[in-house]
Amino acid sequence: MAAQRIALGRPHPRPLPQRATYAEQTQNAHDLLRAVIRELGHPAREIAADPQLRGALCDWAQVAAPRLLLILTGHFDLAIGAVLALGNGSRYQRSCLDELDTGAALGALMLTELGGTNGADQQTTATWDPESAEFILTTPSPAAIEFMPDVADPTVPKTVVVTARLLGDGRDEGVLPFLLRLRTADGLAEGVDVVRLPDKDSAPMDHAMVRFHRVRLPVDALLGGDWARIEADGHFECALPPRRRFHAAISVLGNGRLDLANAAIASARAGLAGLVNYSRQRRPGAGMRMADRDAVQQDLVGALVAVYAASVLGRQIRDMRADQSNSDAGDALWSMLAKPLLSNTAHRVLMTCRQRAAAQGALRVNRLTDWIGNLEAIITAGPCDVVRSP
Ligand SMILES: Cc1cc2nc3c(=O)[nH]c(=O)nc-3n(C[C@H](O)[C@H](O)[C@H](O)COP(=O)(O)OP(=O)(O)OC[C@H]3O[C@@H](n4cnc5c(N)ncnc54)[C@H](O)[C@@H]3O)c2cc1C
Repeated sequence: MAAQRIALGRPHPRPLPQRATYAEQTQNAHDLLRAVIRELGHPAREIAADPQLRGALCDWAQVAAPRLLLILTGHFDLAIGAVLALGNGSRYQRSCLDELDTGAALGALMLTELGGTNGADQQTTATWDPESAEFILTTPSPAAIEFMPDVADPTVPKTVVVTARLLGDGRDEGVLPFLLRLRTADGLAEGVDVVRLPDKDSAPMDHAMVRFHRVRLPVDALLGGDWARIEADGHFECALPPRRRFHAAISVLGNGRLDLANAAIASARAGLAGLVNYSRQRRPGAGMRMADRDAVQQDLVGALVAVYAASVLGRQIRDMRADQSNSDAGDALWSMLAKPLLSNTAHRVLMTCRQRAAAQGALRVNRLTDWIGNLEAIITAGPCDVVRSP
């Protein structure tokens, strides 16, 4: 039902004035996310757990409300998805999920560090303190500053999944995810410093750098799935060897990759449909119809083939992930392949649309530039493309 409503184009994002500032667009995206959750009438965790509904929502957001897409995947895929996949159902995690369910708090992932992150080489530490039965989150050096999660807006409560190197009993236990109420209605958690980053030229988001100074986390902040936990006697128990822990921890990124890939190609379909339509109407001056020119036809046909094939692949992988009986459903490799393939194809096609539509293509009201802006963000970041090492 909810997926049908999305297919019919609801909820309707209110258009922003063309001159809305970057900060206004960012703020509006937060309000829009809460409105979408209200309108769909499902708790956010149900949307997050449904690959078809969540996927349809992401496709719709990229086409109809591009400013929403990237915070949407942060909320549903990266934050709620991680708690659902790796949580232990504790009271702390349930209360965080309750806030995320309605959008009272918005979710994000903090993984990349300023010094550069490749696989599990993060430096941020979570030291287990048996005395207080808490983890102590610390940024040990400037290179370990979190860079650049969308958590800068001081008015938006944020609950984040932060990956950090677990130190216990003097041992390095590898990089694991932790759930942190970064900012509540009362302000930032004690020991958190947030500095807003300058604006990007598109895909408006409230990017920040974040530093931790002995931030205290309860024992249930550890998102260790059924393979890692702190035992009642205070020692860390993990069923996986250290090398496999990070991969298990970030397995949840697969949903985000696939949702962004499919959303990217959805906007390429929309751009191409718009360009075909326009090319049949546009006759520059006394010349021939744009659609009748060989060079234009060649571009349109090439783009159509690429978009068609990429769309089928993306849909197939989404169906696979939705099919509970399919043992390959969780295979992160498919999403890893789909993300660069679909987003680069979409980028190429949208650039063709943008250039072929000429002056009309430059006007924001025609959406091509906003879609391309999101594609740039997806290609660099989505989500946190740091898993380059084996
Ligand atoms: C819009 C946006 C949103 C973001 N949101 C978040 C967020 O919510 N949370 C978060 O934690 N981070 C976020 N980031 C950060 C993002 O995850 C990183 O920018 C991304 O992982 C790339 O890291 P980097 O910028 O440090 O590039 P670098 O790691 O410095 O890479 C520079 C170049 O070297 C190449 N390179 C690096 N290592 C390798 C390798 N091993 N093999 C081959 N090539 C390599 C890269 O492909 C790139 O071309 C966001 C970034 C953007 C742009």
